[in-house]
Amino acid sequence: MRTMLKNPLAKAGRRPRMTVRLANHYGMCFGVRDAIRKTLDAAVDEPVTVLGQLVHNPVVDAELDRAGVRRGDLGAEVTEDEDGVVAFTAHGVSDRQRQRWSEGGRQVVDTTCPLVHKAHAALRKLAAAGYRPVVIGQPGHVEVEGLIGDFDDALVVAGGADIANLPERGRLGIVSQTTQPVDFVRALVERIRAERPGAEVKFIDTVCAPTKDRQEALRQLCQDCDLVVVVGGANSNNTGALARAAEQLGVAAVRVERAEDLRPGWFRSVSRVGVTAGTSTLDETVRQVFERLQRIAAGGS
Ligand code: SF4
Repeated sequence: MRTMLKNPLAKAGRRPRMTVRLANHYGMCFGVRDAIRKTLDAAVDEPVTVLGQLVHNPVVDAELDRAGVRRGDLGAEVTEDEDGVVAFTAHGVSDRQRQRWSEGGRQVVDTTCPLVHKAHAALRKLAAAGYRPVVIGQPGHVEVEGLIGDFDDALVVAGGADIANLPERGRLGIVSQTTQPVDFVRALVERIRAERPGAEVKFIDTVCAPTKDRQEALRQLCQDCDLVVVVGGANSNNTGALARAAEQLGVAAVRVERAEDLRPGWFRSVSRVGVTAGTSTLDETVRQVFERLQRIAAGGS
């Protein structure tokens, strides 16, 4: 449970025209927080090159830029002659990639979230038991690429249309990208069972607890809101999932990366606005969005 940000208007004894509420769970998760801390700590001693985008959030990117952290490519050729260490992101990598970088002579800082490691372990366990690895997730997303990267026969299912690509028979061992909406994942697994009656389907739920908490808190928030503001990176999977979930619950959603993105015109006919944020969004960014919404609620901008 998160502490509610204070409403400055309440202190002043005035009633805002629009109420602004924060979800009970929102914003940065422990996995992202730890990944940023490990990267910044390493950058104090030597140059760090992050292999990919550490987290999908431009405000965090700017903070890393200020600390001199460079961006590299996980798929690049490994060369020993470059200086400094390389960092894997919180989204994790395949064992093949991990081995390729350490055997290539580079010192590695691994910021993979423990809950992503858990998803890898679940898929390995299913594969070892003879199940064909299947991942429910976004094709091409770095976490999904890491999950399937050690299995040549792995399949990715993004939605119902992809079930046609699954074999009719045999054993299917399913896990999920950690940031998928859990209701969507469970419904998709049931659909796979129904459409593949000749296959033995085993599912291990690897949607992470912080994602589930934020989705459940959003459900509660939507009961009392006309509009939800979702704060997070434009390419953040879980931020997009929160916005889509609000819309599926019948509540309009707008996405912003920072307070400056808010447009007062969006709130002209809104009396109750809710705020939530993806797991890679800094608390400071959420606070700034909340405070700007309070000013808009008071008729300012
Ligand atoms: S969203 Fe979940 S899996 Fe991803 S870094 Fe955060 S806690 Fe870990």
